[in-house]
Amino acid sequence: MPETIKNYIAGKWIDADQGKTFKSLNPADHREVVGIVPDSTAEDVNKAVAAARKAFPAWRDTPAPKRGEILFRAAEILVKRKAELGELVCREMGKVLAESLGDVQEAIDMAYYMGGEGRRLNGETVPSELPNKDARSLRVPIGVFALITPWNFPTAIPSWKIAPALVAGNTIVFKPAEETPVCATRLVEILVETGLPPGVLNLVHGFGAQAGEPLVRHQEIDGVSFTGSNEVGEKLAALCGSSHKDFMMETGGKNPIIIMDDANLELAVEGALWGAFGTTGQRCTAASRLIVQNGIYDRFLQAFTQRATQLKLGNGLNKGIDVGPIISKAQHEKVLSYLKIGQEEGATLHLGGHSYVEGDCVHGTFIEPTIFTDVNPKMRIAQEEIFGPVVSIIRARDLKEAIDIANGIPFGLSSAIYSNDVNTTATAERDLDTGLVYINASTIGAEIQLPFGGTKKTGLGPREAGGRGGALDLYTKWKIIYRDYSGRLQKAQIDE
Ligand code: NAD
Repeated sequence: MPETIKNYIAGKWIDADQGKTFKSLNPADHREVVGIVPDSTAEDVNKAVAAARKAFPAWRDTPAPKRGEILFRAAEILVKRKAELGELVCREMGKVLAESLGDVQEAIDMAYYMGGEGRRLNGETVPSELPNKDARSLRVPIGVFALITPWNFPTAIPSWKIAPALVAGNTIVFKPAEETPVCATRLVEILVETGLPPGVLNLVHGFGAQAGEPLVRHQEIDGVSFTGSNEVGEKLAALCGSSHKDFMMETGGKNPIIIMDDANLELAVEGALWGAFGTTGQRCTAASRLIVQNGIYDRFLQAFTQRATQLKLGNGLNKGIDVGPIISKAQHEKVLSYLKIGQEEGATLHLGGHSYVEGDCVHGTFIEPTIFTDVNPKMRIAQEEIFGPVVSIIRARDLKEAIDIANGIPFGLSSAIYSNDVNTTATAERDLDTGLVYINASTIGAEIQLPFGGTKKTGLGPREAGGRGGALDLYTKWKIIYRDYSGRLQKAQIDE
């Protein structure tokens, strides 16, 4: 039975103003409706923003350790309900069950980590150049934040944004992806259960143009955090720039793995398989280019192809499945179009290249794990994000050429190198122009206690997740306090 879900505004679960709904489907079997979802418009957005604005002063003034305790409580509930939530992620987004549970685990990690920030939101105290004067900085919240998220990490990415925004003292209007609204609703329900005051966290479902854009354009929104496609991100960046809103975006990737002649072949094959076909290639950090040195090329291609051939496609809830469905019919069409483009550009379709319609998969949107060889680094399949189980293999003569190819794209999220030579890996570590670099590991595997994000067209603004230079830099601004207790006019830079 599909579940009918609602918006959450000012502490109440309500339908969309115009009463319209849409359906979220199981991508492994489109006959299954997972949720019936409010199709919201600017009216709903207006109510949610008004609720968040009203709740802001009291939430800002709630001691940060208390705000953090709410996140600890949310983490505890997430732990208890992990199995149920993981199954839901699998049904609504399609990634295989082990990965779906990982999606929920990331939200647990983030809630605990950011809960701790409630007692660590520290600034600096520095000496003043004048006597009887203090100089210090403190973090203060920005105000009302719009959080807009994609479907590929339906629990994790919302938690990356909601947890730091809350602990920092902001109030929120959250617009999750239209493909995974039930997962988003579960997360909000859990936060509500912790005792979050009404209006602090508001949830508005709906589509980008009808709900997302009015939210970003709203005059009472102070900051926007967006994860999704470049096309949308760049439009929102322009909107926020012209209306002076704080903004962060994390968008696409075209991540390379370099495999050098001296690599551990088995390890490199495992990492390449996980990077290219894990999550059906629908990760911003997916490895969609394998840059392989000439001396190991034939052995690597043979072993990699053999392993890719053995991958099992199907509904991720079933045991033994390695690769789940593509999220939607539109995305399925997009991936298929790139399979055509690759062949028209002159690349060799080495493996796969078709929709997969065996058995139960006929009711879902599946594509065979696909390998292109004879790929020129400038081809579109080697430059543009495909977001599916499609990988291009590119030859390289040496490290310098491999790094030039790796860097020769508009994106800069993640990269990896397999080599057993310390000088080689250290050089790559220095020269790869990406936000994340992995040594002898795949392009996937970020942990939440360090910042996450990319260079070039991948990212703009502060990074997500934890650590210095992470999400708190987005969700707070610095306030500088000078306190003069000399009882006389003192002039910085002028007094002798
Ligand atoms: P998308 O841009 O289509 O949608 C993302 C969100 O933006 C959705 O909630 C959508 O409703 C909303 N949206 C769409 N148009 C909008 C508009 N005009 N105004 C406001 N909101 C709007 O992206 P997607 O297909 O959901 O996600 C896939 C993309 O996300 C890929 O490019 C992937 O690389 C990227 N991604 C990046 C990261 C990262 O951290 N770098 C992580 C995950 C996904």
